[in-house]
Amino acid sequence: MARQERDAATLERLADQLLVWYEINRRDLPWRHTRDPYAIWVSEVMLQQTRVAVVGERYRAFLQRFPTLQDLAASPEQDVLALWSGLGYYRRARMLQKAAQFVVSHHAGCMPTTAAELRLLPGIGAYTAAAIASIAHGEPVAVVDGNVERVLCRMQGWSAASRSRATTQRRRVESLADKLLVPGRPGDSNQAMMELGALICTPRNPKCMLCPLTRDCKTRGEHKTQPRPRMRSQAIACALVVRTTGDAGQQVREVFLEQRPATESVMPGLWQLPMLREAAMPEEDVRLTVRHAIMQVNYYVRVREVAQNQVDTLAVAAGERRWVPLVEAAAMALTGLTRKVLTRAHLLRHLPPGSIAAESTARVS
Ligand code: SF4
Repeated sequence: MARQERDAATLERLADQLLVWYEINRRDLPWRHTRDPYAIWVSEVMLQQTRVAVVGERYRAFLQRFPTLQDLAASPEQDVLALWSGLGYYRRARMLQKAAQFVVSHHAGCMPTTAAELRLLPGIGAYTAAAIASIAHGEPVAVVDGNVERVLCRMQGWSAASRSRATTQRRRVESLADKLLVPGRPGDSNQAMMELGALICTPRNPKCMLCPLTRDCKTRGEHKTQPRPRMRSQAIACALVVRTTGDAGQQVREVFLEQRPATESVMPGLWQLPMLREAAMPEEDVRLTVRHAIMQVNYYVRVREVAQNQVDTLAVAAGERRWVPLVEAAAMALTGLTRKVLTRAHLLRHLPPGSIAAESTARVS
């Protein structure tokens, strides 16, 4: 890796160019209208592994329900998970609440202000701590994640490091990112760099002709990277069990859900459709097929409509099962897959009884 250092005047100019570009091109995102460290923290946690378009709505709803750190700390976990539903990676929600409770019990409800102190809170890593400290409190500390690393490696012409050199490379990137902060405006500089990675210097097909750094960029395009791990595919199946109860005119549609045991390492306590033992089934029994990606696995999920008395025979033994009115299901802490299946089957909307079965016969992929 040839060293490609730049002098201080060049770095200062690049930092200014980036900020000017940001002021003109930044997206109007809800978390950019606040300096409240709690709100910034919520947005940063949501944005980890979830697209901006999905986070927008969820962020507003979450802050409406839990407007302060104290509200979040004092709420039942199931309420927090329900508001997180659809964002995936529920561990983030649990850790967020745990950290809020820690702040209440150990810091009298006041969040620490420096990145170093924020890192001591449970679940807050270097990236989130730097984002909160720089945006809310103006601390000159750079945020560095995979996007920032990509931009700076391309700009410097640094090829992606092998595993053995990853730490050294990371330190070089962090050092460079620190030097690209405009004095007095570290929060804006950090957001500018993140925005450039999201909009211009994208993983594929970077828009170099529109990039404010293009004149000084060593690669002006994609650079050599380590191959990404390939996604695996796995076929699984779940049971869709629905019924109508009540008298004519007062009918209620219900779905049979089970709660994942609290001892599960993945998504404990969340509600899901019962999972079937066998992914294979006669073609005519497949009511829906959905693809659902978790980590490095693409799950191809067959949804089979079964009767309640078949569930124990066909499904894997799991946690408590119960009938849930469909109008309540949407507000529960559902797994992402269950929410997706019920939405695709038009069951999470308030539909007249009888219209659901017909609509759910469409095959979706
Ligand atoms: S010129 Fe292209 S590769 Fe270089 S930083 Fe800009 S978008 Fe990325």
